[in-house]
Amino acid sequence: MGPGKVFGELAILYNCQRTATIKAATDCKLFAIERQCFQTIMMRTGLQKQAEYTAFLKSVPSFQNLPEETVIKLADVLEETYYSQGDYIIRQGARGDTFYIISRGRVNVTMRSPDSMEEKLIRTLGKGDFFGEKALQGEDIRTANIVADDPDGVACLVIDHDTFDQLISRLEEVKNRYVDESQLRKQSIPLFDEPDTKESDHRINREFADVKLSDLAVIATLGVGGFGRVELVQMVHDKSRSFALKQMKKAQIVETRQQQHIMSEKEIMEEANCDFIVKLYKTFKDRKYLYMLMESCMGGELWTILRDRGNFDDATTRFYTACVVEAFDYLHARGIIYRDLKPENLLLDNRGYVKLVDFGFAKKLLVGRKTWTFCGTPEYVAPEIILNKGHDISADYWSLGVLMFELLTGTPPFTGPDPMKTYNIILKGIDAIEFPRNITRTATVLIKKLCRDNPAERLGYQKGGIRDIQKHKWFDGFNWEGLIGRTLTPPIIPHIRSVLDSSNFDDYPPDSEPLPQDDLSGWDADF
Ligand code: AMP
Repeated sequence: MGPGKVFGELAILYNCQRTATIKAATDCKLFAIERQCFQTIMMRTGLQKQAEYTAFLKSVPSFQNLPEETVIKLADVLEETYYSQGDYIIRQGARGDTFYIISRGRVNVTMRSPDSMEEKLIRTLGKGDFFGEKALQGEDIRTANIVADDPDGVACLVIDHDTFDQLISRLEEVKNRYVDESQLRKQSIPLFDEPDTKESDHRINREFADVKLSDLAVIATLGVGGFGRVELVQMVHDKSRSFALKQMKKAQIVETRQQQHIMSEKEIMEEANCDFIVKLYKTFKDRKYLYMLMESCMGGELWTILRDRGNFDDATTRFYTACVVEAFDYLHARGIIYRDLKPENLLLDNRGYVKLVDFGFAKKLLVGRKTWTFCGTPEYVAPEIILNKGHDISADYWSLGVLMFELLTGTPPFTGPDPMKTYNIILKGIDAIEFPRNITRTATVLIKKLCRDNPAERLGYQKGGIRDIQKHKWFDGFNWEGLIGRTLTPPIIPHIRSVLDSSNFDDYPPDSEPLPQDDLSGWDADF
């Protein structure tokens, strides 16, 4: 490699093992940047931009009554466009549907009088000024010219009527509706809503209050996670049911600096009370491990079934996607992003209903806030995560589109021989992907609406929220009530002979790894 070439780029995204050795062939001079530094810069510029755009928007009178959350969403869809001195940004008499805020430079507002062709200067506008606001409520015949007048060029933040309309309906209508909604949200869904918390306290503290680790007998291994095994266990005194016990090596959690993620996994899972999310009953800890005692889902991973069948038909995919939509609806209403959707994390219960498991990357976000941690599984990662732009619940809608594609075809749409190549394919967007014939037209439309490059344009993230996904044509005729009420017959009914039947899981050889180090540093006091 010679001048201008880059290497090690995966390492600025996350802590990864080098896949090759780089050795100086001649004397070299390199530019280097560390991950921490890169990520701080990306996060800071992202936050600055958001604050600046939000401030611009708030200075526009018709936006002043919009809730913060909506203004932030608007700020996210603003696109910066550039003009040279003398360029006409809009022309008098022309039709237009675009609204502009000046972010840099100066423009002249000019008008032609009916009797002469000469343009008269009406006024000059500068940074923070805006024009074309009527266009947001419908097509507008421009009443004046706007001409860039700055030797250094002019930059405008632009939003068009259609994009605006996806986020907000008519302004007046919205003012009332959104105010109501945001108040409602404040009342009924605080950090975690009260009834759930109580119920989960109940679940965690009462029924399993006296259960000790020594009361549990290991029957088989169900899976292997990032920090250890998940075992099928049974209580020595009650053989009528079984549980899944997830064990995590504390030393490895500390080594990979995942303490925060693990604490948040426990917190989110123990408070979640949703039929489409695996229930956490109790946690334990000792010198070497953290343990999570969960409901066992003995139908196995959706991944295993997909591998064995190759792909699913439209109706089967619809059922599983709908289960995920319900889980996301529950989480997103509480400001929680899941961030690790993939068939491996979808487990079938004994009836064939799917539940989300593994909340290792789930995170609670405050309204309008973003997060910057690079996480997920390469094939399912949204472009804004790769680009370090900050992400929020809209990243889950991206992954929902990826999941639909994988279930329908057997392979995710964006795959490369290594993560970096996968990321490059993701950044080229869904339109560069060829859809196999067996994906119906309606499914294609929905996948493309979920996998929009711009997070704010994704279905589920707009004014109608997740209802927009449920209402999409691909779901026409789907029995949502039956799904929620569990009266709907699932497409695949697992064969489970007893509560101890682990035959729907792959076999795992016995654990041959040496015992992990003790960790008594106390970071897990609240686990
Ligand atoms: P995790 O580390 O949470 O991703 O778990 C690793 C694997 O263990 C999963 O992909 C499942 O195969 C299995 N597993 C985890 N939790 C459960 C559960 N509650 N019931 C059955 N299997 C589970």
